[in-house]
Amino acid sequence: MSDEGQAVVAAVEAVAERLEAERSYLTELDSAIGDADHGGNMARGWNAAAEEVAGLNDPDPATVVKTTGKTLMSEVGGASGPLYGGSLVFASAEFEDGITAESAVAFAETYLEKVQDRGDAKVGDKTMVDALVPAVHTFKKSVETDDLPPVEALAKAVAAAKRGVDFTVPIRASKGRASYLGWRSVGHQDPGATSTLYIMEELLSVAQEQLGVEEPAVDAASPTVPDGEEATED
Ligand code: ADP
Ligand code: MG
Repeated sequence: MSDEGQAVVAAVEAVAERLEAERSYLTELDSAIGDADHGGNMARGWNAAAEEVAGLNDPDPATVVKTTGKTLMSEVGGASGPLYGGSLVFASAEFEDGITAESAVAFAETYLEKVQDRGDAKVGDKTMVDALVPAVHTFKKSVETDDLPPVEALAKAVAAAKRGVDFTVPIRASKGRASYLGWRSVGHQDPGATSTLYIMEELLSVAQEQLGVEEPAVDAASPTVPDGEEATED
């Protein structure tokens, strides 16, 4: 199996495990502002995808991503199946010549574009788009303008997605089932933005493992107590 194909299979397996672990939390979030199926949708869909890609014979990265998307489309109904699955199928073509910083940026942009084409949501509608837009923009800027190595760029993107998830809490839903609640959707975290963050966190951790990076470099600027000095309490 190609190293890159193998890395993507490992990523799909890591995502499936994580979403299985978060199944009840995601369902809890969806029960507050939706129909309590998001945890089941994600866990079922990604588990099926992990099984499917494990059975591929020496796949390239594009084939693994495309197979994952197709499986999500057939296993997951509702809003999220076509949004996650269809967008992955479409964006998988960006990896046809392999995974590079450039093709990863193209993949992220195409994925976001497809989610927005299909779902017609913009930032502030309280959907997965609130996590994706800042993540994709941050990833692109980190690679293209700041010249960061891809894994560091991805770590920045994950931090941006996290802020996007937090941003969904105080706002009112304007798309999807949660929009039926109107103002009663305020104060609840969006399930799809949350699962999007978990997926990105797993991609980051697999990328770090594959490239032998142990610590994300994002918080390098956080203050530390200098050697020999004790933190004082007052
Ligand atoms: P369903 O809403 O069909 O029950 P899920 O519960 O699996 O599907 O997924 C709900 C998530 O889908 C929401 O939390 C939101 O993030 C996302 N979502 C719903 N509608 C849209 C849309 N039009 N555009 C983008 N994301 C959407
Ligand atoms: Mg739901």
